[in-house]
Order: sequence, then structure tokens, then C-alpha cells
Amino acid sequence: MENYDVAIIGAGPAGAVLAQRLGLKRKVVLVDARPMQAPARISESLCAGPHYLEKCCGGLLAPDARKWLSNRGLFLPASVLDGVQPDNLRALDLTGSLERLYPTEYINLSRSSFEKWLLSLVPRGVETFYGYRLKKIEREKTGFKLRLSSGNNASGSVIELRCRFLVGADGANSMVRRFLNRPARSQAAYLAVQDVFPAESADAISGAGLFEEYVAFFHPMLTDFYGWIIPKSDQIILGMAMPAWVREAKKATVHMELLKKMLRPAGYDFSGSFRRSGCLLLRPHLSDVFLGDDSVFLIGEAAGFISPSSAEGYSYAFISADNLANAILRHDHVAKVRRAYAVACLKMRANILYKLSKSLIMFSPSIRQMIMYSGLFAKV
Ligand SMILES: Cc1cc2nc3c(=O)[nH]c(=O)nc-3n(C[C@H](O)[C@H](O)[C@H](O)COP(=O)(O)OP(=O)(O)OC[C@H]3O[C@@H](n4cnc5c(N)ncnc54)[C@H](O)[C@@H]3O)c2cc1C
Repeated sequence: MENYDVAIIGAGPAGAVLAQRLGLKRKVVLVDARPMQAPARISESLCAGPHYLEKCCGGLLAPDARKWLSNRGLFLPASVLDGVQPDNLRALDLTGSLERLYPTEYINLSRSSFEKWLLSLVPRGVETFYGYRLKKIEREKTGFKLRLSSGNNASGSVIELRCRFLVGADGANSMVRRFLNRPARSQAAYLAVQDVFPAESADAISGAGLFEEYVAFFHPMLTDFYGWIIPKSDQIILGMAMPAWVREAKKATVHMELLKKMLRPAGYDFSGSFRRSGCLLLRPHLSDVFLGDDSVFLIGEAAGFISPSSAEGYSYAFISADNLANAILRHDHVAKVRRAYAVACLKMRANILYKLSKSLIMFSPSIRQMIMYSGLFAKV
């Protein structure tokens, strides 16, 4: 059985950055349940076993994430940029029929190309198991024994490995975090659902500036967070973050129908055919941030790092991965690594606190309406 210094579970933005930083200096294994590559041939896509599935995500790169990349000398290749780059965001308050146009600096990406580009930066020395899900964690005297499995049935293959440090970069529904028995509060776990309308459906959907602007909409009957419309060159995404009560009542489908109905008076018609995807999305309070325990570390959304006001997660994934890499590279003793990681993450905690206070303003219907009515920060 192979022994590693660090096993990273999850090859999303957080896991990819950590593997890139540690790969040349430590023996690292990077594991992801998704294959991370689309099948090269149709015959391959018909094979049993997991298929590449793009993570349910808006794929917008915020200025903070862009700044982090350029500070590291990482410049986005053209291949990851979407052909549509809106510079306006339309805010729609569906209760008061208010709308305003705001300038925005988000970069519109293809999530799958962005993810593949980040993974292309991982050094060759890093062992990768894509298409393998972490199934079992056993604590041992000097580390952990992990069991990975490909596919859901008995025909899948099983790999066992050992590691000294275990890193959960496995997102909002982190198994590594569950192993530590420190889940985020259930009210912090939203269900994000996205209906993706291919460009061919363009005739069946309509709305003001639909193909040129981002849209964020608000209505307390739909969500206490927000919903969004994101145009891409080959598709339009209609999404919403649904609070725990919708998730628990398993009413997502009914809720998406209600959303489409409520958008109609605002001039948006989403009657075309679509592909639906969904996943958990954390909207953390400070108490939901948890960096791990003993020799288990959490980074990115698994640690609760994501903006509670906008659901922007890339910058938090990058910075937390970078902080942990610095701690591991500087210290050998686990207690020192843990301390250095915790200290480095204080700024991120403060940032979450700031975003929580921003959220009180943005998501209070009366304050939001007052701001929108006043035209403060708006273009039109
Ligand atoms: C609908 C939606 C829209 C969003 N839009 C944006 C946006 O536009 N901009 C932005 O900045 N952020 C956005 N976010 C947030 C962003 O997607 C996340 O915060 C970010 O991807 C977190 O990165 P991560 O690496 O921590 O986790 P993830 O990107 O979630 O990656 C976790 C990885 O772990 C793997 N994994 C999970 N469990 C296991 C297991 N047991 N074994 C092996 N592998 C496992 C998964 O396959 C996945 O690849 C959005 C989130 C949602 C839900």
C-alpha cells in the first residue's frame, strides 16, 4: 500500500491549488470522484463508471480571485474565457417591481475549462486518482488509511492508501468534514439549482438584456438569498439558492416553477427545454468555519470558506489552499502546521464577518429597496 505525506480529497479550485503548491516538495495524492476529463471517445462515455460532470456553478471570477491569480503570476488563458463578457448586472426586486443596472467586474468563465486549466498546473509528480470517490477513512497511529472506489457497484475498482496529513477539499458536502463530526449548521446549507438552457432554446426564452447582462433577483417567497441569470456563449443559466426549508421539504421542482412564474411579470419567459443540476451551497456564519482537527485539514468550501453575501467561492478556495500550503511547507510538526494555518486564516474569517454585515443590508428587503430606489451605485 502506497504511503503519502498529504492526501487531498477534491480536485476543485481548492484541491488543485494545494496540489500545485505542494506537489514538488511533498509526496502528494489528489483524489476526485469526478473523472475531471470528458471522455475522448463516445464508446468511452458509454462505459460503466463515473462520467465527467461539470460542477453546478455560475463560473464567474470575482476581482479578488483574479487578483490572487495575477499576484501568483497566473494569467487566464483565452481558452477558459467565455465568449460573452457582460459588464452590467441587473438587480431585480420582484416584490416591489424595482430594477437597477449596476456595473460589474466579474469575468465570465467556462467552469470546466477553468478547472482543467487549474489541474494542468499540478506537477506531474502528484499522483492523481480521478473518478475515485473517498469511501472510508480510518485513523491510524501515524496518519490515516483511506479507501477509494471507482463506480458505485461491485465492478468498480478499489484502492487503499496511507497518508500522514489528510486534506478535505471536497466541497460543501465534505465527507472529510463529516468524518470529523463537525458539520455546518443545517440552516447554512442551501440547495443551489440551475436550469441550463442551451443556445438552441434561445427562441423559447426571452427577457430584457437576457444575452448581454447578468441578473440577480430577490423575493422572500422564493429565497432569503438570491437567484441569478448568467448568459454564456452556448447557454443561459437560470439559478437560485434555496433555503433549508425548501431543501428539507424536497420542493425544489415546484420552487423552480414558482420562480419562472414570478419572473414573467418582469418580462422574462423561461419556457424552453433545459438541463437541471443542483448541489449544496454553504452560506456560512463564522461558527460554520472549521479548519480541521489533529492531522486533518479542511480548505475551500469544505472549511466553510465562501462569501455569505454573493456565494463567491473561488477566492476563498485559492487563499485557504495557499495558507495551508505555506503552513505545511514551513513546519513539520502537526501542532505548528495547525497553528500557522489558523493564524493565516484569521483574515479570511474577518472577511466573512464583513460579508455577513454586507449581507444584512443586501438581503433586508426594506433596506435593499431603499438603496435601489435611491439609485446609489447604480448606472441606470
Ligand atoms: C450554483 C453555484 C454557483 C456558484 N457560482 C460561483 C461563481 O460564479 N463564482 C464563484 O467564485 N463561486 C461560485 N460558486 C461557489 C464555488 O463553486 C465554490 O465555492 C468553489 O468551487 C469551492 O471550491 P472547492 O475546491 O472548495 O470545492 P468544489 O469546487 O466543490 O470541489 C470539491 C471537489 O471534491 C470532489 N469530491 C466531493 N466529495 C468527494 C469524495 N468523497 N471523494 C472524492 N472526491 C470528492 C467533488 O467532485 C469536487 O470536484 C457557486 C456555487 C454554486 C453551488
